[in-house]
Order: sequence, then structure tokens, then C-alpha cells
Amino acid sequence: MAIVKTDYAIGDILEFKKSHPCGGTRWKILRAGVDCKIECETCKRIVIMSRLEISKRVKKVISSSQQS
Ligand SMILES: [Zn+2]
Repeated sequence: MAIVKTDYAIGDILEFKKSHPCGGTRWKILRAGVDCKIECETCKRIVIMSRLEISKRVKKVISSSQQS
């Protein structure tokens, strides 16, 4: 069974498997909770999605808070 990270932090960048109609695949977490507010890094569109929905779409989490 695959372990899916579902605890996202504000500022995290998520890479989705499927691209947005604008062509972007990176989303930034603006608000974390049961429902998360995410912003498309390419077209700046804001979408509210449940954490479960996000976890199904995420390919990779790029945590901006852990930059060295
Ligand atoms: Zn977009």
C-alpha cells in the first residue's frame, strides 16, 4: 500500500499528475485544513479542494519550507 502524504503546509508546492488547462502542474498551498485552498503557479487561479482530492492528484510535493 502506498503511503500518501496528506498533511500539507502553507507554502508547499504540489506537482499534480494532470496539468491544469493553462498547462501548469504546480500548485501552491494557500490554506491548509480539511479543505485546502490552492493556487495554480502558472495562471494564479485559486481552487478549493479537499485534502483527499489533492492527495489523489499529487505526483510530488515540493516543500518550500524545507529549502536549504
Ligand atoms: Zn493554471
